[in-house]
Amino acid sequence: AALADLLNSRIRDVPDYPKPGVLFKDIAPLLADAEAFGALTRALAERAKELGATKVVGLEARGFVLAAPAAFAAGLGFVPIRKKGKLPGEVFQKSYDLEYGSATLEVQCDAFEPGEPVLVVDDVLATGGTIGASLDLVQQAGARLVGVVVLMELGFLDGRERLTPHLGGAPLDTL
Ligand code: 5GP
Repeated sequence: AALADLLNSRIRDVPDYPKPGVLFKDIAPLLADAEAFGALTRALAERAKELGATKVVGLEARGFVLAAPAAFAAGLGFVPIRKKGKLPGEVFQKSYDLEYGSATLEVQCDAFEPGEPVLVVDDVLATGGTIGASLDLVQQAGARLVGVVVLMELGFLDGRERLTPHLGGAPLDTL
């Protein structure tokens, strides 16, 4: 609860961004605060170790900022899942629906050892489209999902329900 209070106190609500009617959760003040960013990084690293992960997967772009230092703090490797066209070589692709249109995410085919235990990290679980597609990619690339951790969950969008079929029983934690 102390961690959640600290993190919450450093997240800023920005009305009507990126479009009218959306209340955007801005994590810039949290990242800029050494105490909060450090506590968040340590919590992610601890969870990665508890779950026995050997790699931490971050989702472009804010997921990178959380997952990479957590991987370092836990002594683990980092793997990026990126938007289409950013990764060289052979990639697996997964498309998912947005409110208008669709988006495509990619992971390098050789990112994981077969069956390697991985933790997936992102900043916000909203509708669940981004994490859902990422979990499918992790599975397609031959890794074994041991958990998902997000900084925050926008509960009213039912992302957790949408993700359940992609989790394969792995835990989904919100800090
Ligand atoms: P979803 O695919 O679950 O609908 O949206 C999640 C993705 O959109 C995350 O990668 C997250 O970075 C971004 N996102 C959606 N809403 C917000 C928000 O209010 N604040 C931040 N920081 N990111 C958001």
